[in-house]
Amino acid sequence: MDKVDLLSLNPDELEQVLSELGEPKFRAKQLFGWLHKGVAPEEMRNLPAGLRTRIAENFLTNPVRILEEKVSKLDGTRKFLYALEDGNLIEGVLMRYHYGNTLCLSTQVGCRMGCRFCASTLEGCVRNLTAGEMLGQILCANRKLAEEGERVGNVVLMGSGEPLDNYDNVVRFLRLLHHPDGVCIGMRSVSLSTCGLVPQMLAFAEENLPVTLSLSLHAPDDEIRRSLMPVANRYSMDEVLCACRNYVKKTGRRVIFEYALIHGVNSLPEHARALAGKLRNLQCHVNLIPLNDVPERGLKGVSEKEIDRFRQALEEAGISVTRRREMGDDIDGACGQLRRHYLKQSGENRVTGEEQA
Ligand code: SAH
Repeated sequence: MDKVDLLSLNPDELEQVLSELGEPKFRAKQLFGWLHKGVAPEEMRNLPAGLRTRIAENFLTNPVRILEEKVSKLDGTRKFLYALEDGNLIEGVLMRYHYGNTLCLSTQVGCRMGCRFCASTLEGCVRNLTAGEMLGQILCANRKLAEEGERVGNVVLMGSGEPLDNYDNVVRFLRLLHHPDGVCIGMRSVSLSTCGLVPQMLAFAEENLPVTLSLSLHAPDDEIRRSLMPVANRYSMDEVLCACRNYVKKTGRRVIFEYALIHGVNSLPEHARALAGKLRNLQCHVNLIPLNDVPERGLKGVSEKEIDRFRQALEEAGISVTRRREMGDDIDGACGQLRRHYLKQSGENRVTGEEQA
C-alpha cells in the first residue's frame, strides 16, 4: 500500500496519526512545523529517536524533488523539472522580482482541458497532485533560495493543470499554505488561474480564501473562445463573466483576465473593443500575453506592433491593461514544454528508478 503523505495533512489529522502511534497530541504541532520546513525525519530534533525512525520508515514526508534545473542568464528565472514519488514529472518556474520571489506551481500531471495553444494538455491529464505535492514544490524552491537567504513569497497556480479540476486538493493546499505554523503565505500573495470552470468558481468564492483569481479568457466572444478552448463549449462567456462578478462581490478582489494574443485569431483592435464591451463595469485588469508558439498546433504569436495596437484599443475603452513581462526567455518557452522535451528525449512518460536515484 502507498505510504501516507504527511505533508498533505493538517495538524488535527497529524494528531490522529500520532495518536495511533501512541504519541501525545503536542507532537502534532512540532511535526507539522518540521514537515513544512522540508526537514527530513532524521533531523526533526525535538522528536524522540524512535518516532523519527517510524516516520522515516512508514510515511512519506517529502514527496517532490528537483530532477533538473535551468537558470536564466537574462533575469535569474529558474525553471525546475520535479520528480514525484511515483516517477511522474511536473515543472515549475521561479521568478525573481524586485518585490520578492514568485513560484509558479503545477496542480496536475498534465491537464485534460485541451486548450489548443497549451503544451501541458497535449497528452491529457495523468493524475491530480496531492496538497503535499503542491507544497513540496515550494519546499524545493525554498531549499534553493535558502542558500541566498531568501524564500518564496508569492505563489501562482499557473503551471500545468487546471487547479479547479483538482478542487479539493487545491483548497486543502491553500489552507495548509497560510497556516501560521507552516510556510505561512497569505492568500493575498496567491493567484489561482482557471480556464473558467463555472460551478467550481462559484464554490471557490464561498471558501473564504481570498486569492487573486486569474481567468484565462483569450477571446472577445464565444465563437473565438470555442475555437481555442473546449471548456467554452460547456460554459458561455456570459456565465464565466457572471461567476467573475460574483467572485469580486464575495472577495472584494478584482479579477485578472489572461489574454494570449494569437496571430490571425484574436489580436485585432476590433477584438480589443469587443472585449472591452464585455468587461464593462467589472472590477478587473487585463494581462496581455504574447503567445508562446506551440508548433504542434500551428499557432503563432504576434508582433510588438500588434500587441501595442491591442493594448491601446483596450486602454481607450477604459480597461486597465498590462503586457505580461516575459521571463526566462533563454531557458524555455511555454508552460509544459520542459516536461515535454524531457519526455521526448527519454521516450518515457516517467523517470525510471535509476534516473531518480
Ligand atoms: N489551467 C489554468 C492554469 C494553467 S495555464 C488556466 O487555464 O488558467 C496558465 C496560463 O498560461 C493560462 O492563462 C494559459 O491559458 C496560458 N498559456 C498556456 N499556453 C500558453 C502559450 N502557449 N502561450 C501563452 N500562454 C499560454
